[in-house]
Amino acid sequence: MIELSGLTKRYGEKTAVADLTFSVRPGIVTGFLGPNGAGKSTTMRMMLGLDNPTAGDVRIDGKHYAQLKDPLRYIGALLDAKAMHGGRSAYNHLLCLAQSNGIPRSRVHEVLDTVGLTAVARKKAKGFSLGMGQRLGIAGALLGDPQILMFDEPVNGLDPEGIHWIRNLMKSLATAGRTVFVSSHLMSEMALTADHLVVIGQGRLLADMSMPDFIRQN
Ligand code: ADP
Ligand code: ADP
Repeated sequence: MIELSGLTKRYGEKTAVADLTFSVRPGIVTGFLGPNGAGKSTTMRMMLGLDNPTAGDVRIDGKHYAQLKDPLRYIGALLDAKAMHGGRSAYNHLLCLAQSNGIPRSRVHEVLDTVGLTAVARKKAKGFSLGMGQRLGIAGALLGDPQILMFDEPVNGLDPEGIHWIRNLMKSLATAGRTVFVSSHLMSEMALTADHLVVIGQGRLLADMSMPDFIRQN
């Protein structure tokens, strides 16, 4: 369970995120909908402890991010397709991530298999297509077998097969009891993926309701 309370982020005069209060529950896919510039990425970065709020806070199972012992085992995230794998192979990228987080090497093989990259694991990640890059990013998010998974615009620019694969993965993670939080600027995408919807505009909360309720009211 993730709980946001009065979460606010200002950049100088600009308020990117304004007084957001909502919870993200396990066992379902929660969609985070808003147009570009609405504050989705800023919110997700604060939820991951990568950015400090100006006011308010985020709790993960009652704890602040900084109090979590092994963050990668609690939360996995896909933030940006342009991940930092440098000139490394997919395998070495994941191995470094595993080693610096005390995760066994066997887990690298498992996640490569899960995302369907085993055959290209020794190839340089730099040469990967957007879809393969997303799969590698997702492999990294799954590495610590975390309870919470966050995906920021995961299907942007992907082909239909890649989109279908990511949707099914998110649903199966939720069915397995995980907390899944995914952002998009497209309602059509959310309608196919999310069980619950949180909507923001200009950094403010506009809706927080089940997908059937949202569709009925809009
Ligand atoms: P979204 O992910 O919904 O597209 P963002 O969270 O990226 O929205 O951005 C929300 C607002 O905050 C935008 O107006 C953006 O320009 C602004 N913003 C984001 N990051 C910064 C920053 N580092 N400095 C100044 N303004 C920022
Ligand atoms: P630094 O730049 O000091 O190495 P970061 O700002 O990259 O640290 O990350 C801060 C914390 O967030 C670290 O504990 C790291 O493990 C965690 N973290 C970074 N990226 C992710 C991610 N994609 N998913 C989950 N945790 C992350």
